[in-house]
Amino acid sequence: MESPTTPFGPTEADALALDAADPLRGFRDRFSLPRGRDGAPQIYLCGNSLGLQPKATRDAVLAELDDWARLGVEAHFHGRHPWYPYHEFVRETGARLVGAQPHEIVYMNSLTVNLHLMMVTFYRPTSERYKILIEDAAFPSDTYAVRTQIRIHGRDPDDALLVAKPRLGEKAIRTEDVEALLEREGSHIALVLMSGVNYFSGQVFDMRRIAAAARRHGARVGFDLAHAAGNVELCLHDWNVDFAAWCTYKYLNSGPGAVAGCFVHERNARDASLPRLGGWWGNDPKTRFRMHLEPEFVPVPTADAWQLSNPPILALAPVRVSLGIFDEAGMPALRAKSEKLTAYLQFLLDRMPSERYTTITPPEKSQRGAQFSLLAHDRPRELFRELEAADVVCDFREPNVIRVAPVPLYNTFHDVWRFAKVLSKHA
Ligand SMILES: *Cc1c(COP(=O)(O)O)cnc(C)c1O
Repeated sequence: MESPTTPFGPTEADALALDAADPLRGFRDRFSLPRGRDGAPQIYLCGNSLGLQPKATRDAVLAELDDWARLGVEAHFHGRHPWYPYHEFVRETGARLVGAQPHEIVYMNSLTVNLHLMMVTFYRPTSERYKILIEDAAFPSDTYAVRTQIRIHGRDPDDALLVAKPRLGEKAIRTEDVEALLEREGSHIALVLMSGVNYFSGQVFDMRRIAAAARRHGARVGFDLAHAAGNVELCLHDWNVDFAAWCTYKYLNSGPGAVAGCFVHERNARDASLPRLGGWWGNDPKTRFRMHLEPEFVPVPTADAWQLSNPPILALAPVRVSLGIFDEAGMPALRAKSEKLTAYLQFLLDRMPSERYTTITPPEKSQRGAQFSLLAHDRPRELFRELEAADVVCDFREPNVIRVAPVPLYNTFHDVWRFAKVLSKHA
């Protein structure tokens, strides 16, 4: 060990000792780890982009295929996990993951679709109040979604879109600057739609304070939790946000293009007068199967009211498995390990100062999750290729950012140690 003040040591043996003491160490074995050229597991630091496959997922999907083969339509009620109430199997686990009441969440569609469905309800511009506040740099799909929503309402996105930015020379957006923007423009802002964790910088936003400020100024507030769900602890109900949406293929390990999550606060879910798009799976189950006999849409008083279609069972099976694993590990324990993993990475990086890159993710642990974004000053693509050649799996975001994310479920301190060793050779 280095010094009495740091809990970390720099050697490989130190990394292995941290793994041996990790209460979550057993979870790694429950995932399929892609192998590198030498047959050893790759240094997979890409769970922020596509999480790895839980080994139980294959059997869960095959079980649904078998039930379909064996039972046909009867599997709706007689399958091992009956399809008719299938979305109920992710309700409790899915709600605990994001700090919601069970009836405030539903897993459906994909993320951008859910953002649009939410904006149909929660972006209702008037001549006074018509602006949407987003962050710089928002994920492109979110930017396209808000710009096209603004156009649908006959407005000009260049006028109606407000962007919260970091101060000159800074990398992170200050919460007080978002609050100041709301103070200044609040009476014109219809909706605040920010991410919980920025995809590019890895900054965790103070969602509680931002939600409170938005509501104080009469705006609706929603969060895109693509990089936050399964990464940081969330209290959506208590923070009183209007809605949220997130994908499940990043930290949530549910597979490429997996079914997304959606949160609607109960005070909204109970409000039958809210405008929305309706479909039969959002309708009161008492009249759902009266079909054409009951043409009037009767929304259930829960988030399910926004669920248009019957759920895609083959796609929901991986979500059910994955949320079960998160629930077993628990977000507080995962977050505790995640903070330790990133602190360890920071410790190793601090020991090898380099001119070649700067970390743009905030150093404060309350402002970062699992992701580190390294801004490469010099030949960024080459640095990325050098990492790839050494079996590091991370990703590159134009023009010059390399994102690495040691995730607490299946990454080890040894993975982080191996990564730092590779980086030290090239940086
Ligand atoms: C990953 C991600 C998306 C992807 O949207 P899909 O609809 O799932 O393709 C959207 N927004 C953010 C912020 C993301 O991180």
